Amino acid sequence: MIGVYGGTFDPVHFGHLRSALEIKEAVGIEQMKLIPCGQPPHRCQPLAPADMRCRMLELAIEGDSGLGVDSRELEREGPSYMVDTLASIGAEQPAQILVLIVGMDAFEGISRWHQWRELFSLAHIAVMQRPGYSAQLPAAIAALDSVAMVTECDQLTQRKSGCIYFHEVTQLEISATKIRELIRQGCNPRYLMPERVLQLIERERLYR
Ligand code: ATP
Repeated sequence: MIGVYGGTFDPVHFGHLRSALEIKEAVGIEQMKLIPCGQPPHRCQPLAPADMRCRMLELAIEGDSGLGVDSRELEREGPSYMVDTLASIGAEQPAQILVLIVGMDAFEGISRWHQWRELFSLAHIAVMQRPGYSAQLPAAIAALDSVAMVTECDQLTQRKSGCIYFHEVTQLEISATKIRELIRQGCNPRYLMPERVLQLIERERLYR
């Protein structure tokens, strides 16, 4: 299985890295692709340039063979639609099962994504659940015949796509927004992200 973990990563922080690792191990994903978004369709443009966001990710996962950075969205023109990303990975590695990793907030709004129904024919979805929140399908998704909510991750290997699996991840109350604010205010964001990422931010004077 290949995990597809998209985000703006502006910058990457321990909330991303820890949740990616926990989902990877829980689901049995061999290769987790961290995919920086080129042009987010649903939010304002990232502050740091694409090459810097990519470099920060590379530094963050250096030495971890189970995680990789995939820059295909940065190389594509136009808005970065996840449906295109999944289709292109699927075309490259047709024998693999793809698992799209999303946070609960993103999952709740997924029916606003471009060609969202197609997502369920290209991949399974693993939802990073906040402890204490119930695992519920939004009505628009529950209405799809092709979608099945599964409670055991083994079930993800039994079909190619269309399963939704909720998994609780450790809550680290870190956000890239908060980190950017700290830097803008002249505060130190150390210990919220890998030291190598912070060094790059300081060297390049990002988020000032
Ligand atoms: P921003 O504050 O700029 O909105 P962010 O910190 O939420 O950024 P994104 O790059 O937008 O990070 O998030 C990519 C993915 O990472 C999303 O699926 C999101 O739910 C998840 N994510 C972000 N922060 C955390 C966290 N602290 N713990 C677990 N998952 C997270």
